[in-house]
Amino acid sequence: MSSEDTTPASNFIRNIIDADLAAGKNQGKVATRFPPEPNGYLHIGHAKSICLNFGIAIDYQGTCNLRFDDTNPHKENIEFVEAIQRDVRWLGYDWGDRLFYASDYFEQLYDYAVQLIKKGKAYVCDLTPEQTREYRGTLTEPGRDSPYRERSVEENLDLFARMRAGEFADGERILRARIDMASPNMNLRDPAIYRIRHGAVHHQTGEAWSIYPMYDFTHCLSDSIEGITHSLCTLEFEDHRPLYDWFLDELEVECHPQQIEFSRLELEYTITSKRKLTQLVDEGHVEDWDDPRMPTIAGMRRRGYPPGAIRDFCERIGVTKSGNNVEMGVLENCVRENLNVHAPRRMAVLHPLKVVITNYPEGQVEELQAANHPQDESMGTRTLPFARELYIEREDFREEAPKKFKRLVTGGEVRLRNAYVIRCDEVIRDSQGEIIELRCSYDPETLSKNPEGRKVKGVIHWVSARHSIVAEVRLYDRLFSHPNPDSAKEGGEFTDYLNPESLLTLTRCRLEPSLADARSGEQIQFEREGYFCVDPDHRHDRPIFNRTVTLRDSWARIEQKNG
Ligand code: ATP
Ligand code: MG
Repeated sequence: MSSEDTTPASNFIRNIIDADLAAGKNQGKVATRFPPEPNGYLHIGHAKSICLNFGIAIDYQGTCNLRFDDTNPHKENIEFVEAIQRDVRWLGYDWGDRLFYASDYFEQLYDYAVQLIKKGKAYVCDLTPEQTREYRGTLTEPGRDSPYRERSVEENLDLFARMRAGEFADGERILRARIDMASPNMNLRDPAIYRIRHGAVHHQTGEAWSIYPMYDFTHCLSDSIEGITHSLCTLEFEDHRPLYDWFLDELEVECHPQQIEFSRLELEYTITSKRKLTQLVDEGHVEDWDDPRMPTIAGMRRRGYPPGAIRDFCERIGVTKSGNNVEMGVLENCVRENLNVHAPRRMAVLHPLKVVITNYPEGQVEELQAANHPQDESMGTRTLPFARELYIEREDFREEAPKKFKRLVTGGEVRLRNAYVIRCDEVIRDSQGEIIELRCSYDPETLSKNPEGRKVKGVIHWVSARHSIVAEVRLYDRLFSHPNPDSAKEGGEFTDYLNPESLLTLTRCRLEPSLADARSGEQIQFEREGYFCVDPDHRHDRPIFNRTVTLRDSWARIEQKNG
């Protein structure tokens, strides 16, 4: 981890750990885990959990396991297993040799289930799924006991063994905990522990099993087996905590981790439900899981977000039990601040307009020097070729403009960044009347200094026409145009709020020649345009740059206007 990472602010979870350590709990150990289900790619919400769990392990000289919570073979696959590892590593965290799978424990979990049966604390139930729902009751009405609740231990052991042996069809029987059908907490109304799943090939255990343990049973026992001290999860599991504790108490395990809940991160203008992210990919609203508009870690990497900026963001948003609804601008500002320090400056013309310097000798080329960073001299300089034909940004010229337009106008002067002052003498049009070229003259006395007695306020960027590289530039913007895409009106869907302008592809951009050696993943500021990064599909003969973020938060202004 780099030294510029801020010292972590305290939070209520760290306070609990401090108190536990002071009280001599857990032999002074701190052991956490990050437990993703490999049924999708990790997103910004997971980043919060990763930074929290791994961050605590680092700061308390403890350990953090990466554990795949892989109990649903129908939805999981190895692509997701691999992507998750890549993304956690890229975020800057290392689990060493502590990579685990809940499926590593299937045999042990089976034995635990047998123990519960022997204690009279679990039974095989033959109710259909519909009947099970009916018997369960509601929030205001207690449930009813299943007619199979009083089965003998022997019969339960026999049936459970036969479930494992594959004798019954999916849904025909389940194994349930025997707790309390009248509990006000629905999670304690004899929840399922095992279900039958035929025909699935599990990415780790293949076809060895046709029964799979449920999440609540698996999770607490996996934590216990791994000797986790603090099991951190999101608030929706608060009502599951009594069940978490029930399993561990009934089974008299040696290690009983403490479950602590914190609020989920919700980020404006995006969604963090894996089901919905899967839908965006499957329905082709985005290219793939790593589309730069996706709030996935893979998407943010491709977009050019530095891992340090994401860690910084997770630190800033904090960890509490109250709602954690965060403005997109907070994340984007972390990215800007990081890139402002680290990204070298370059010039790129996104909408080129040709400029001919009529008093500049044909064939002459000057090699001008330009700083790579305005504050950080250690980043060095680069060479910019200056020649008779240049490109400037179309938007930087107007034939007539109000006084506050500080760029180039007919008859007016402007400074070319790192070069000379030019004056626009003539505008050339094509047969449709569109401006295709400007005839300008330059003042050779003005290289990096203003002419005597003349004030030239505007500075614009440029590239040499002959030396520049033609590139594709993808201007990414927010994927949704509504701060809360989940608030779709009745009958609507979150996809109704997709931002139709979330991607604008420009194919004829002109970049300064020093960008010829840019490599995939490299981050650059295109001066006056924003921060960009080199796309993984970038080739020397087909350069592709992605816009990471604009230089300023243009959305804040839109919101102010609307609000
Ligand atoms: P789904 O959205 O499919 O229900 P999930 O987001 O819970 O799944 P998991 O793979 O089970 O996905 O998550 C792994 C861990 O990341 C869990 O401990 C979970 O609590 C945490 N996590 C998931 N989403 C967020 C979020 N938005 N904010 C903070 N932590 C999160
Ligand atoms: Mg989950």
